[in-house]
Order: sequence, then C-alpha cells, then structure tokens
Amino acid sequence: MEDRDSTDMETAEDKLRERIKELGCLYEVTSIIVNCDYDHPELSLEAIVRCLSKAWLYEQDARVFLQLEAYSYGSFPEADQWVSIRADIQVFNKREGFIEVAYPAEKYSVSDFLEEEKQLLSNVALEVGNLMERKKIRESELSIKRQMERADRLSIMGEITAGIAHELNTPLTNILGFSELLGDRMGNREEAEDLAKIRESAIFCREVVKKLMFFTCEVPQTRKVVPLKPVVQHVLQLLKPSFSDKNLHCQLRFGSDNTGVKADEIQMTQVLFNLIMNAVYYSPEGGKITVEVKEGRREITIAVTDQGPGIPEEVGDKVFDPFFTTKPTGEGTGLGLSVVHGIIVGHKGQIAYRKGRGGGAVFTVKFPKQ
Ligand code: ADP
Repeated sequence: MEDRDSTDMETAEDKLRERIKELGCLYEVTSIIVNCDYDHPELSLEAIVRCLSKAWLYEQDARVFLQLEAYSYGSFPEADQWVSIRADIQVFNKREGFIEVAYPAEKYSVSDFLEEEKQLLSNVALEVGNLMERKKIRESELSIKRQMERADRLSIMGEITAGIAHELNTPLTNILGFSELLGDRMGNREEAEDLAKIRESAIFCREVVKKLMFFTCEVPQTRKVVPLKPVVQHVLQLLKPSFSDKNLHCQLRFGSDNTGVKADEIQMTQVLFNLIMNAVYYSPEGGKITVEVKEGRREITIAVTDQGPGIPEEVGDKVFDPFFTTKPTGEGTGLGLSVVHGIIVGHKGQIAYRKGRGGGAVFTVKFPKQ
C-alpha cells in the first residue's frame, strides 16, 4: 500500500469534492434509470457501471462489477488480488444480483472505502432493484393486457364462427343428401364423376364446419377419465407414415403410465393429433419430437416439443385464431390450433406456446384436476 498517491482526504475542500462526485454519480444513475428503455435494460445497466466507475476516491484503480439475473457488466475481481465492497440487488425482496467495487489488494485495504461510498453503493443497488421491480410489473401488466385482448378477440370470433357454422350446416347436409340421391339415379359415368366431385367438396366444407364447431365448443361431449398414454400412442400410430416420411422419432415422457384427464376422448385425440401433426410438419428431417405428460398436485400438463424453426415473435397469439396460417396455400386451413384452443377452453384448461431450448416450438396444455 506504500506507493499509493498521497491524495487522501486531507482538506475540507477534498472532502467536499468527494461528496460532489458521489452525489453527481447518484444523480446520473437516477437519470439513467428514469430514461431506461424497459425493452433494453442492459443499456442502462452498462451505463450505471460506467458512471459508478468514476465515483470512487481512487477512481483510477477502482473496478466496478454488476451482476443481475443472467447479465453481468464490468470485470469480476478475483478474490485474492482485490479488496472490495459489495451491495446486493433485491428485486421483490429476493436477491437477484449484486454490485461490487474493488481496488487492487497490493495497494489498498478495505478501510480505503469511505462510509459515504458504501452508502452510495447501497443506494445505487436499491435504485437498480427498484428499476427491475418496475420492469417486472410492466411486463406482467402487458401480459395480462395481451391475455384479455386475446380472450376478447377469440370470444368475438367464436360468436361469429358459431353463427356461420350453424347457417352452413343445413345447406351442406342438403347438398350431400341430394347429391347422393342423384348419384343413385344417375347412369352416365361422366356426370357421376362430376357429382362425386361436388360431394367431395361438400364433405370438405362439412369438415371445416365441424372444426369451427369444435372451436366454438358447440360439439356434444361425453366426459370420462381418459388415460393419456393410450391416446398418445393411438395418435402416433395414425401419424406413423408422416413420421417415417421425414425419418422423425418421438420421445415419450410420462411421469406415470396411468395419468388421465376427465375429458371427451375424441376431443383429446383431436388435441394431441393437431399438436403432434404441426410438430411433424415443422420438424427438420431426422428430428425429434417430445411428448411429455406431467401430473402435478392441481393440474396435468402435456407438452409437445419439436426441433423446428419455432414461431416468429410477431405472430404472437394469432396462431390460435381461426384461419390463421403461415403454411403455403393448399397446405393449411389455419383451423388446427383454434380447434385445440376451443377444446381446451371447453375443458377449463389453458394452452400456451413458447420457444424451446433448441429454438423449436413447445406447446403446453394444462388441464385442471377435478
Ligand atoms: P395450420 O397448421 O393449418 O396452419 P394451425 O392452426 O394448426 O393451422 O397453425 C396455425 C399456425 O401456427 C401455423 O400456420 C404456423 O404458423 C404456426 N404453428 C403451429 N404449430 C407450429 C409449430 N410446431 N412450429 C412452428 N409454427 C407452428
């Protein structure tokens, strides 16, 4: 500690200069926090570290390090070569990180940190904690707002589609019935072929109407406890050719073989079929699809994970809207996930998706345990 400059706090003027420096730093930190862009808090955290570096009596030798959740800024001082002081960053009373200021041990000791400097560090840590709390509150408000908007949008769409489905059901049944009667009476092969095309198209429309009714929970159900493992195995059997075409394999993870949900079996099959079929569609050649079923105390969770490209952020919850599709024309109707959504809501469950660790999509369905 001998060769340190003897600029220690000797005069009242020195002391005053130090106080001004600390207060200036606190003022600057507050301004950075007030102007924080909540989408990029890392910029503010970096600026705070830069600003803090100038606040110490021996600023030329001081090192500042900040760690918060997954972020870290500045250089971490190794314990044996540095003396340091540290203040924890608390977010909602939980320690989420810290700020540390260090001097090289060969020149300084812990007593070289002034009381006011320790106070400054605590204040800055407190401000950073408050900033993170405000960020979290904002995020949860945004997510609640989005959920409400989604529920509103889907319920309006539900009403409209229910009306359309009802209106179309009767004429479609007529088209199918009468074309069948006509077919029985028709001898000419060419005309019969035309009629078959009319019937095929009407059947396709009826399938769309059926899916819309699923979306609006208009389909009658018989609910009993449905064991999930056989349903998943049945769906995988149905999709076997698609799995082979792309050389995919499926990993099943069941907490217990007997986990079941109180649901309509056909609808449960539909849910798993649609989710796994999408996973197959988006999987790369040779990819892995994971179906995981977990039983918690209050709910049962089914997760379907793929290794595809995932869902772009800008798409958001639109994936659950009827007729929303990003597939090329002719390949998708955009009804798969809206049907799944309708069924899940009809069972008082929840559906969400997120990005998987490898970048693919993870669709999670939760059913309450009755
Ligand atoms: P469709 O499959 O007919 O497009 P869906 O309602 O099943 O209708 O899906 C809607 C959209 O959601 C898809 O077009 C696609 O953009 C997106 N999507 C669904 N599942 C996945 C997935 N596993 N990976 C990536 N995108 C997906």
